[in-house]
Amino acid sequence: AAGEGAAYLKGLNPEQREAVLHTDGPLLVLAGAGTGKTRVLTTRLAHIIATRLAFPSQTLTVTFTNKAAREMRERALHLLGDAGEGLRWLGTFHSISAQILRKHAELVGLKSSFTILDTDDQIRLCKQIVQAENLDPKRWTPRYLAGLIDGWKNRALTPDRVPPEEAELFGNGKAIKCYEIYQARLKVLNACDFGDLLIHNITIFQENPDILREYHQRFRYILVDEYQDTNVAQYLWLRLLAQGSRNICCVGDDDQSIYGWRGAEVDNILRFEKDFPGAKVVRLERNYRSTRHILAAASSIIAHNKGRLGKALYVGNDSAVNEDADAPKVKVRGLWDGEAESRLIADDIESWVRSGGKHDDCAVLVRASWQMRAFEERFILLGIPYRVIGGPRFFERAEIRDALAYLRLIRSPDDDLAFERVVNEPKRGVGDASLAKLQSYARADGRSLFVLTPMVLQTDEIKGAAKRGLTQFIDQINMWRGKLAGGMPHTELAEMILEESGYTDMLQKDRSPQAQGRLDNLKELVRAMGEFDSLAGFLEHIELVMDAAAGGSGEDQVQILTLHGAKGLEWPMVFLPGWEEEVFPSRRSLDESGLKGLEEERRLAYVGITRARQRCYISFVANRQIYGRWQAVMPSRFIDELPPEHVDAVSETGYSGLPAGSDAFTGTIEDLGERSDYQSPGWKRLKENAGKPTGTPPRDAAGLTATASGTSGFITGARVF
Ligand code: ATP
Ligand code: MG
Repeated sequence: AAGEGAAYLKGLNPEQREAVLHTDGPLLVLAGAGTGKTRVLTTRLAHIIATRLAFPSQTLTVTFTNKAAREMRERALHLLGDAGEGLRWLGTFHSISAQILRKHAELVGLKSSFTILDTDDQIRLCKQIVQAENLDPKRWTPRYLAGLIDGWKNRALTPDRVPPEEAELFGNGKAIKCYEIYQARLKVLNACDFGDLLIHNITIFQENPDILREYHQRFRYILVDEYQDTNVAQYLWLRLLAQGSRNICCVGDDDQSIYGWRGAEVDNILRFEKDFPGAKVVRLERNYRSTRHILAAASSIIAHNKGRLGKALYVGNDSAVNEDADAPKVKVRGLWDGEAESRLIADDIESWVRSGGKHDDCAVLVRASWQMRAFEERFILLGIPYRVIGGPRFFERAEIRDALAYLRLIRSPDDDLAFERVVNEPKRGVGDASLAKLQSYARADGRSLFVLTPMVLQTDEIKGAAKRGLTQFIDQINMWRGKLAGGMPHTELAEMILEESGYTDMLQKDRSPQAQGRLDNLKELVRAMGEFDSLAGFLEHIELVMDAAAGGSGEDQVQILTLHGAKGLEWPMVFLPGWEEEVFPSRRSLDESGLKGLEEERRLAYVGITRARQRCYISFVANRQIYGRWQAVMPSRFIDELPPEHVDAVSETGYSGLPAGSDAFTGTIEDLGERSDYQSPGWKRLKENAGKPTGTPPRDAAGLTATASGTSGFITGARVF
């Protein structure tokens, strides 16, 4: 084939090369972690463009995170040089479907200026529905409703397609009705949520064959990474688009399917071969990432899973390229408590750096975001540079959300959620009562608050300070919108809004210790806006880039992130702390999904270990402070599943791994979930207690004594580490 002697093919093994060169027809690459799936995908993209099978704009490449998309774009540009310009359709499912929806929004009743709601807005909207339906929000929580709706959307179910019996899932038979109201409200708001992006795309394609045909002609090649984590909606979307050229290449690893809780279906891998008969399947078996100890550890854990597709499909990889005889074994360490754990990890990082390594080489991967705090504190104390990826996100801070709400309202007057957020922020005398009046008008009339408010102001419904405040608010927004239309640069406009709205003034008068930080954040926001050439472009970016890392790339920082966020990435040195029962595997996943949940947790352990290239440090503690109380905790059962001959284990406490499921364990660790919003009550309580003297952990706590008895050092049953 053309391009066979090309430089980009050098260094690929025969199977990888085969996958790159097989450009005609459907292709599935199934292989374990670190075998070069992503590398194959990137090289294939380069090959397609370099041999002129398609222009960059005729390829569609879907990755799982924005970070992965950025990296793939960089790699492709590196391989292609200028020829790689114009990769317009390389991104996440969200970003690509948003691009498509902007073009055809009117076909699903939206304007192309639609807003993409984030979780916070979604829940706010659900709260209004729960109230309007007179449901008790304590029994029927808005968050639960939002979760239900997300779940249906993951399964590509519009309200008319939800099985009728599922109506019982919320509000005494009102689940589907609430979903309908939710969708109707979104339309009025000229908004959609993340799930809608794909659903609307699918609707548009299904109802408008001519439009679908356009995309068939456009997308000559489709490439999909992390295919094992696609949900039904994503799958349908891909299938619709791929029916044109049938040149679709998906790469994945069923052992790394970790988004079942979000509707991902591993079975999509099996369906692929059904939907695309004659699909070629390539298996990669050679791992290029990790040392043999790391691979052995990962393989040994995942071997405990029963529900493995891959076993039948391909041979697992254990032939590591890195056969370095001196490679260190995987380290497992038992520590007294979380503080000791963070101290030890920070020390390891410092000595790594002292011996010539970079901070950037190191990652701390946690199961749930609450675990991050201990490391952050330790790193701050020692001055170790770090960043939290997908952590307490810059763009989710209150002042940033307020500023964005102003900008959203300027972009789209129908954005009621933005209106509600800032109409009285800073204070303009518009109380809840006035707002409620406006809302009831808006509900009755079907138009947005921004449109209706001037009409209401003509009447005597709202008087006094509220009337003055609203008049000023509407006038100002109109004026700012005019400035933008008149060509004022969006960064200048943002500064003007913050000044003239009184927002900056409000913060300057604020005597709380956070006020200066909030002002700094707003400055940072305006700076970030400067990187985009339009307000619309910037807002789109914010709405999509949910894993935007503070700090930016290329800086030498330790990275802290969740295991879920680490998928597809790699570091020379990886720390896996908190391997304790109920933390990892998390109690919630076991409670909610039993064995299925456990197997998904185990895949997460496999993902975690396989992120490491040279060194992998697993740790657990004997005591955790939960809600300010010390509790004895047990090592994770996954520690027991590690292969002793590839592991070096030490225990500071004389406390060891115990048989899984032991009755002695009485921990009650709340799994605060993988969402990194730090908003949960547990986190708040932890924070309130932070810095308060807590005394020393109870060395003789009943739980610990009981669980530690009969074991010494690192002995578990017959296994001696
Ligand atoms: P994951 O399942 O974790 O996403 P993956 O299968 O996508 O892993 P890659 O990230 O593509 O694997 O590759 C893992 C590492 O191995 C990368 O550093 C990559 O550059 C390297 N690699 C892949 N193929 C080769 C090869 N043929 N020769 C040398 N290095 C390779
Ligand atoms: Mg990959």
